Amino acid sequence: MDKGLVERVQQAVDEKRLIDTAVQLIEVPSPTRSAGAVADRLAEILGEDGFSVERPVADWPEAPAVAVRFDSGAPGRVLQFDGHLDTVHLPFVPPRLEKGCLYGSGSSDMKGGIAAFVEALRVLRETETLQGGQILITAHDHHEGPWGDRRQLVALIREGYVGDAVLLPEYLADCLPVAGRGMAIFEVRITRDGEPVHEVLRPADTPDVLAAGAQLVVECRQWSQQLALTTHEVAGCDSVFVGRLQSGEIYNQSPTECVLNGTRRWVTPGAVEEARSEFAAMLQDLADRTGTQIEHDFEVQGDAFRIDLKDSLVGAFRSAYESCTGEQLSPGRKSFVDDGNSFARLAGIPALTHGPAATGAHTLSEEVSVAELIRVAQVYALTAITYCPDAAEAA
Ligand SMILES: [Zn+2]
Repeated sequence: MDKGLVERVQQAVDEKRLIDTAVQLIEVPSPTRSAGAVADRLAEILGEDGFSVERPVADWPEAPAVAVRFDSGAPGRVLQFDGHLDTVHLPFVPPRLEKGCLYGSGSSDMKGGIAAFVEALRVLRETETLQGGQILITAHDHHEGPWGDRRQLVALIREGYVGDAVLLPEYLADCLPVAGRGMAIFEVRITRDGEPVHEVLRPADTPDVLAAGAQLVVECRQWSQQLALTTHEVAGCDSVFVGRLQSGEIYNQSPTECVLNGTRRWVTPGAVEEARSEFAAMLQDLADRTGTQIEHDFEVQGDAFRIDLKDSLVGAFRSAYESCTGEQLSPGRKSFVDDGNSFARLAGIPALTHGPAATGAHTLSEEVSVAELIRVAQVYALTAITYCPDAAEAA
């Protein structure tokens, strides 16, 4: 990228303004499904900045989402910056700035990142460096599981709040995440007819729910070895994992229920329904063999995704990152499932997760350095400058 342009954009990022925005977002508690007040706060901030703010309800009247479209006035692509305003359900930690680091609920996951992309938007407008295309900002509730089910993002996508590509400032900064696995969380409930009964009093043919559960654990281990043969060079391999098994009350009583919880992950985009039906068939077979009844939930958190390294978003991002830091990011995997997986699956657009190298997500000690927030704001603005005006491939 042109050096003068890069410097102009970098210098336009206003540290104080960025920190103020982050603090104003962090100081409003927003556990998942209760992000209304912080969405109002973000809308206020953007409105005071002179942007015209939309508040699509998007299937969650408790906390209408926040959307801003900034149009360069010339043709080009739409680059979306998307973030979730909700935080995990942990005790609230107020914002605190100390020695160049910002602390508090959501500082790392992901109000800091949202503040950074808001700053990128301001910089693009002030420097008049966006020569074509548009920026679309979206921020919403209902992200963090198990409290949220991502309904608001699904509704936003359905209602057309979708760019030609999207950047998501989650706390991932050490690679260019070009592939990731899909994931579903399952709960299996194995039951039998009748009441709990002393072991010596039970009829001989009483189904053994605990043994059926143990059998399922063993079969999942064997199945996982088969699944591991389905691989992707970056994303890894398919897997099934049981992390919890609960059954029984005391040592000599035959229980009526055994509950298992675990995950199923896959590397192939679009393999959701296959993974779901394969699991259901396996459980039905186990129920038939053990004389038990088996019910289950299979909650898909996100599909597997891949981004083409030749995609224009990747090219624009890489040159922005390199211009900004003097370094390159190697392609790697995104080990978690985030809203990028939903954009890839439901909107079919390239979704790149890149945010501050922040720590402590999902703990009481979230922490992000101001330098990282500034860097993210710069990289987002520079990516847009390259990506948006190039209308050759734009729809
Ligand atoms: Zn997050």
